[in-house]
Amino acid sequence: MRSAYARLSGESERGRDLFTSEGGNWSGYALESVLLATVCSQITGNESRARGRAGQGILIASDLRDSVLSQLGLQAGCEEWVGLFRAVTQKSERASAAFERAETRYGSVESSEKVELTTEPLLQASERALRQISRPDDFQWDDMHGSAPSNALSRRIQFIRSRVPAFMKSRLNAGHLHAPRGSTEYGNEKFRCPDCGSHDINYVADTVLCLRCDTPTNRID
Ligand SMILES: [Zn+2]
Repeated sequence: MRSAYARLSGESERGRDLFTSEGGNWSGYALESVLLATVCSQITGNESRARGRAGQGILIASDLRDSVLSQLGLQAGCEEWVGLFRAVTQKSERASAAFERAETRYGSVESSEKVELTTEPLLQASERALRQISRPDDFQWDDMHGSAPSNALSRRIQFIRSRVPAFMKSRLNAGHLHAPRGSTEYGNEKFRCPDCGSHDINYVADTVLCLRCDTPTNRID
């Protein structure tokens, strides 16, 4: 949550003011932090805290949609965020309603602009948050958006709606959220996970973790 507040206060994102029409697009990364904090509370069984965090995320996304962002595609992206906060806290009916609103607004985006919209920070951030919740089964952009540019956004919403419940079920069963995916290497014989024996590694934030189970992994000399 601290990272979300720092971003929202303008201390990161290169000093951008996230509550202006120019900076609002970058608030996706603050929403990403709020969403991951919500998921962590959910995993540790602190449902009231998860609800509170989801509520904060929904308020921010709704404010951006109603008062900050004027572009239709980005307003749809805000609805997508509302749906995500509802979905990870297992409010499935309200999640469905938000995803339907997102899909309707995405439907009004010009076909030629649909793929480009997925590269906007607001949407990149939700894709990144979702990818972390999906770990260790990382998905690719194509899995989420398909190969037909004119259907990319409706595919995206369908993907999110159908996958989030399964991602959450796996994380709740495992009892933890995997580390973000940094740069990875498969079958590096110089590293061996002390816990599960894997040689697949994840270089992230100055550490080397097992790609499979997140245990810090040392070089075998
Ligand atoms: Zn391991």
